[in-house]
Amino acid sequence: MSTDDTVAGPLLGRERRSPLRAMLALFRSSWSRLEPADRQKLVNLQVSVTQPAMATVMLGGAVLLVLLGCLEALGWVAGIGYPPALSVVVGLVLAFTPLLVWYQTRWYVRLAVLLAYTAVLGVFLSVPMPGAIPQLAFRTGLFNMLPIAMLALLVRRRAMALFVGVVLLLSLVRVELHGAPASGQTMYWLYVFATLGFGWMLRRYRSEFAARAYLQSMNLWWQARTDPLTGLLNRSGWEAVAAQSLGRGTGGRVRTRPGCLVFLDIDHFKQVNDTHGHQAGDDALAELGRIIRSREGKDYIAARLGGEEFVVLARTASLQEAWRFAERVRADFALAQEALGCTLSGGLAERQQGEDLSSMLRRADEALYRAKSTGRDRLLVAARSDGVPHDASA
Ligand code: GH3
Ligand code: MG
Ligand code: MG
Repeated sequence: MSTDDTVAGPLLGRERRSPLRAMLALFRSSWSRLEPADRQKLVNLQVSVTQPAMATVMLGGAVLLVLLGCLEALGWVAGIGYPPALSVVVGLVLAFTPLLVWYQTRWYVRLAVLLAYTAVLGVFLSVPMPGAIPQLAFRTGLFNMLPIAMLALLVRRRAMALFVGVVLLLSLVRVELHGAPASGQTMYWLYVFATLGFGWMLRRYRSEFAARAYLQSMNLWWQARTDPLTGLLNRSGWEAVAAQSLGRGTGGRVRTRPGCLVFLDIDHFKQVNDTHGHQAGDDALAELGRIIRSREGKDYIAARLGGEEFVVLARTASLQEAWRFAERVRADFALAQEALGCTLSGGLAERQQGEDLSSMLRRADEALYRAKSTGRDRLLVAARSDGVPHDASA
């Protein structure tokens, strides 16, 4: 995750980009900075957030058709060839489609309802019956408010593409049946594409805003779960990430390596602070963070639990691999802190069948306690909770 200002900036103050660059930025989406899983999450989130507005717009379109039918019946507005009563009935039927969109969980059914709704509303609002006197300009104007609103709310690309297809088809049918309006063919298509273009731009703005807000929330999530001194996760971050990773399956592979937990603690760290000062202590902590990051393998999740205690979940490591890793870290640290005489003690727990994180941590902590009480500067393997002793030489 990047932590650059473009994520945190916009909410903190006015963007200081030139208007042209700000406009062009609308075409470079922040979506490209999201992982596929995050994109999916954001799509689902946007769908649920835009759903009430989508249902309201659909209801609005249906009410408009009912209203037009009534006004036509009263002779207050000219019709386009459909019996006013039919317009009212169709409008009333369409008024129920928002409910379908609301309660339907399958996206493709929702999309089919939306497309059918658009086609029917488009025909009754703005495609005159053959032979009718076309009142094209204002009727089309009324209908074309719908694409602007809908495009602003549609989330999935294929939904947008199909919706645009239906609108273009309706436009084509209008021209095929009745020829170009008085203002001419060019003006007509300019009008249709301007409508779609403005709708698309609003959609772009909405998804860009959503992506930035999402990136910012992720940024804050990581900031709240990272230890600034070492760059490793902090306790709450580690608990969240490590517990989630333990819960993940092995993708169908048989797990031959159960995973291990390494618990490290700097020896006599209080003395380091007392003798060499707090800054030297901080430097040692930062150095240990660097060493752990440089030595950790794939699937390792490391954290500073607090103070001078560090923990690493090696999710797919064997006991031997985790042992080698911990010994390398201890050796690197001893070398780096030679002048201070700083050493590390450690406890190592191999995961047992179905064991959770807190149980592994407790066993590794017990091994660490034994390492401390038997002279420090050493690594010990935790006993299994069923009492079977481990080969401490691993
Ligand atoms: P042991 O070998 O038994 O682990 O002894 P210890 O002195 O390392 O352990 P103890 O728990 O007695 O002391 C931990 C010390 O860590 C106390 C505190 O001053 C120091 N410490 C905790 N957090 C920080 C930090 O962020 N920076 C620095 N410089 N020191 C810290
Ligand atoms: Mg200590
Ligand atoms: Mg300690």
